[in-house]
Amino acid sequence: MDDYILRATAADGLIRAFAATTKNTVQTARSLHNTTPVASAALGRLLTAGAMMGTMLKGEKDLVTLQIKGDGPIEGLLVTADSKGRVKGYPFNPNVDIPPKSPVKLDVGGAVGKGYLTVIKDLGLKEPYVGKTELVSGEIAEDLTYYYAKSEQIPTAIALGVLVDTDTSIKAAGGFIIQLMPGATLEVATMLEERITHLKYITELLDRGETPETILDAVLGDMDLEIIDKMPTEFYCDCSRERVEKALISIGEKDLRTILEEDKKAEISCHFCNKVYNFDEADLKKLLDEATSK
Ligand SMILES: [Zn+2]
Repeated sequence: MDDYILRATAADGLIRAFAATTKNTVQTARSLHNTTPVASAALGRLLTAGAMMGTMLKGEKDLVTLQIKGDGPIEGLLVTADSKGRVKGYPFNPNVDIPPKSPVKLDVGGAVGKGYLTVIKDLGLKEPYVGKTELVSGEIAEDLTYYYAKSEQIPTAIALGVLVDTDTSIKAAGGFIIQLMPGATLEVATMLEERITHLKYITELLDRGETPETILDAVLGDMDLEIIDKMPTEFYCDCSRERVEKALISIGEKDLRTILEEDKKAEISCHFCNKVYNFDEADLKKLLDEATSK
């Protein structure tokens, strides 16, 4: 099954909902970054949230970036998503290995630690929108819920889950974001809260083979659930040699000359996908010429 995101509304538009299945996305991230199970879970949760938050963007070229910086051994995570379901991301330390909370629960909160979540929305305006909140638990879903309440004043329920198999591959991944829109009555809010409280852990649901459809139906089925669309989602990195060249030129003539004289080559790898771009002496000379002529 390919990854996808469902977008839906309920209660006459007073509720908007997103649900995603992201096993392949997280599996790709795991392979690219060679993450330990707890790092796969942390990154997978943030990628799943990012992919759904990307689909909330209105403009074609809009981007949302989620940055977590914590004092735990993973140090931080960065995820960027566009409005078309494409998402990329990486953990600062993919090798973090800490004991699980229980045989079935990886300690994502322990890996992340205390710190901050920053949400950056690039909406094509002069300045991006930036919201920053303290981490509540480092478990990511709770941290995003708190971000929405505090920074955007939107009551939000978020569940994110990544199930890592015994061979460290990704068995299942997914989640949902459900938000109360302005004008939602206390009755709607109470009903929603009740449903969510009674919902089992998201990983349990995913493990049982529940889909975005059945999960949304379980929460909002009797609240006039209306599926708006189904959008494919994937791990996608848009890096290219051209972009890396531009970045190298932008470090300036002096630094470029130093690299050329001291190393005679440069090996640049993309943070998001680990692809390596090699530049030999002739390449660097060409870039230096370009930097100089600017
Ligand atoms: Zn890349």
